Amino acid sequence: MLNLKNKNIVVMGVTNKWSIAWACAKQLHEAGANIIFSYYGERSLRSLEKLAESENVTGILNVSCDVTADEDVEKAFNTIKEEVGIIHGIVHSVAFAKKDELAGKYVNTTRDGYSLAQDVSAYSLVSVSKYATPLMTEGGGIVTMSYLGGERVVQNYNVMGVAKAALEMSVRYLAHDLGEDNIRVNAISAGPIKTLSAKGVSDFDKLCAGYEDRAPLKRMVKVEEVGNTAVFLLSDLSTGITGEVMHVDCGFNILGY
Ligand code: NAD
Repeated sequence: MLNLKNKNIVVMGVTNKWSIAWACAKQLHEAGANIIFSYYGERSLRSLEKLAESENVTGILNVSCDVTADEDVEKAFNTIKEEVGIIHGIVHSVAFAKKDELAGKYVNTTRDGYSLAQDVSAYSLVSVSKYATPLMTEGGGIVTMSYLGGERVVQNYNVMGVAKAALEMSVRYLAHDLGEDNIRVNAISAGPIKTLSAKGVSDFDKLCAGYEDRAPLKRMVKVEEVGNTAVFLLSDLSTGITGEVMHVDCGFNILGY
């Protein structure tokens, strides 16, 4: 059933009302889930508190979590264990790369920039899975956010594309490891959506400009559609699906031209 009543779901990555994680939280809340927010930085916390009040989507807990520090991830999930107990799902909607490496040629990527993008955007899923799964004693689901630039070359996406490729492969390895505990791991490969992170990609508007003409559905994807897919992947309607990268992009990924 799609009913997520009494399910405790951790949503990571709300920074403002445009965040994909916020759309996921809203749809999950509507489906009856209890939301635990993890935020990065005081600014995100303030934004989260305002949003929760104005849109009436209050989390049962807000925890700070910098995904680049294992001790922080461990602390966050220890707090969740103490305050909430069991969890049934995670939305991992977190990524970062240096702005100047999301422009120009990939060949100019620095060693530091490469490591940073991999650390925040790909390794973090491994770390989160490690510390979160002991709380998932009734099984559940983990959903992360990817993009087509992890499969194909998308101009300017560069180092983030390589991080998404690692993220998608991690989804498969994690799905393999965690399947015996009835924990499913999937990714949503979303079409372009105007968010704070997306603005960091040089000429993001140009990338969107051709989309409506070319995508089979002749439009951009709506953030709510990504949120709905996260609900589906965390619900009992998708119990046979794991290790999957599901495109939610109005069909853009099928094009060969
Ligand atoms: P966003 O800027 O709203 O979200 C990115 C989040 O990452 C922010 O909440 C930020 O606080 C968090 N973050 C960054 N560094 C962190 C750290 N060290 N510890 C913890 N959190 C950290 O942008 P978004 O577009 O909603 O991005 C969410 C996810 O969706 C990302 O993985 C992104 O790559 C992916 N995605 C975005 C698009 C798009 O077009 N916007 C398309 C496909 C996939």
